[in-house]
Amino acid sequence: MRIEILNTGTELLLGNTVNTHAAWFGRELFKLGLRIARQTTVPDGDAIRDAIAESIGRADALIVTGGLGPTSDDLTRETTAEVLGLEMITDEAALRSIEAFFALRGRPMVEANLKQALTPVGSDVLPNPHGTAPGVYVPPRLNGRSNCAVFLLPGPPRELYPMFHADVVPRLRALAGVKTVSQALELKFTGIGESDFHQGIDAALARVPDLEFGYCAHIGEVDLRLIGQPHALEQGRAIALEHFKEFLISDDGASMEATVVRLLTERRLTLAVAESCTGGLISNRITDVAGASAVFTHGLVTYANAAKIKMLGVSADDIEIHGAVSETVACQMAAGALRVSGADIAVAVTGIAGPDGGSPEKPVGTAWIGLATEAAGATAFRVYHPRNRLDFKLAVSQAALEAVRRWIHSASQ
Ligand code: ATP
Repeated sequence: MRIEILNTGTELLLGNTVNTHAAWFGRELFKLGLRIARQTTVPDGDAIRDAIAESIGRADALIVTGGLGPTSDDLTRETTAEVLGLEMITDEAALRSIEAFFALRGRPMVEANLKQALTPVGSDVLPNPHGTAPGVYVPPRLNGRSNCAVFLLPGPPRELYPMFHADVVPRLRALAGVKTVSQALELKFTGIGESDFHQGIDAALARVPDLEFGYCAHIGEVDLRLIGQPHALEQGRAIALEHFKEFLISDDGASMEATVVRLLTERRLTLAVAESCTGGLISNRITDVAGASAVFTHGLVTYANAAKIKMLGVSADDIEIHGAVSETVACQMAAGALRVSGADIAVAVTGIAGPDGGSPEKPVGTAWIGLATEAAGATAFRVYHPRNRLDFKLAVSQAALEAVRRWIHSASQ
C-alpha cells in the first residue's frame, strides 16, 4: 500500500516549527507493517492544492496534516474538496461538538469556528476531543479523481496523535489488509566508526534472507537498524554481536543514558556526576530517564576553578601546575564528587570546548574524563573531539556515560 504524508504549514518551511510529524508517522505506520512512500512539506496556500492533486494520482492513502483551524490561512478542507470535486456541507454533529468544546471552557465561539464544521459531502468526520478542528476521512469511493483514500488531520500533536490512533489506524488496517507485520530491531553501538562498523558486517548481513538493514551514525554512536521477520532479525543481531559485542550499548534501541540507568538500577548502584565543560548535560541526560532518582545522587556543575576547589576539594596548586583540563584535576573532581555524594561511583569531566582557550599541548576539543569508586580510587582518560561547542558537549557526555557503562560491566564480571 502506497501511503503519502503531506505536512502543511508555512512555519514548517521557515524553520519556526520542526516537522516532527514526518518522523512520528514513520514510526507509527511501521508498527502497522506500513511504510511512508513519500513525505512532502508545503507552505499554506496554493502549494497545498498542487501537492494533493499530485499525491492522489500516485498514492493509495494520503494523510494531510495542518490547516484545519479557523483562520484565513487554514484552507486544507476547502482545497481538498475542490481537488476531489466534492461539495462542502456543514456537518451538524461536528458543529455541535465544536459548540460543546467552547461551552465547556466558558469561552464564546466566534463565527470563524463555523467553518471547521464544513466537510466534503459524504466524508466521515473524525472527532477531536482535544481541540476544535475535527478531522476528515474521504474514502476512495468518494474520490472522483483517483482511488486514493484521503485523511485530513489537525496540526497540533496533542490533537493529531489520539485522532490517528482512534480513527485513522482502523481505517488504514482495513484498507491495507496487512497480515504479516515486519518487526524492527535497533542496536546501538559506541566507540567504533561507522565505516569500520559497516565494513565489518555488511557482507554477512546481506547474506541473511529477507533481512533489510541500515546504519545511522550519530555523535559517539552508530545504530544498526534491522527489519524483517523474527528469525531474520535474530540472525542479523547474532552477526552484529559476533563482531562488535564489546561496543554494544543496547540491542533494544535504548539510549546510552537509559542503559546506564537500567544497569545501575539492576545492580543497586548510585552515581554522582561532576561536570565542567559539559555544563550539566550528563546530569540532564540521566534525569531524562524515568526512574533516575533511584540511582542518581548528585549533578555538580563546577565550571569555575573556584567551584572545583570549593565544592570538590580540587587542589588549587594542581590546577596551577597541571591546568584545569588535566588528568590530575579530572581524578580529583571524580574523587571529590564521590566523597561529597557518598555515591558508589562518580564520573567527572573537564575539557576545552573552544573556540578559544586551546594550546598546542591541549588543543580545543581535549577533555579528561575521571572515574572514581571507593575500591579502585580515581582514574582518568583523555578524549579528543574537536567539534563545535554543542557537539563537543554531546561527544564528551557520551564518552563519560560509556565509561560508567563499561565500569559497571567490568565490576559485575
Ligand atoms: P489550529 O487549529 O491550531 O490552527 P491546524 O490543524 O490548523 O490547527 P496548524 O495551524 O497547521 O494546524 O498547526 C498548529 C500547530 O501545530 C503549529 O503551530 C505547530 O505547533 C503544530 N504543528 C503543525 N504541524 C506540525 C508538524 N508537521 N510538526 C510538528 N508540529 C506541527
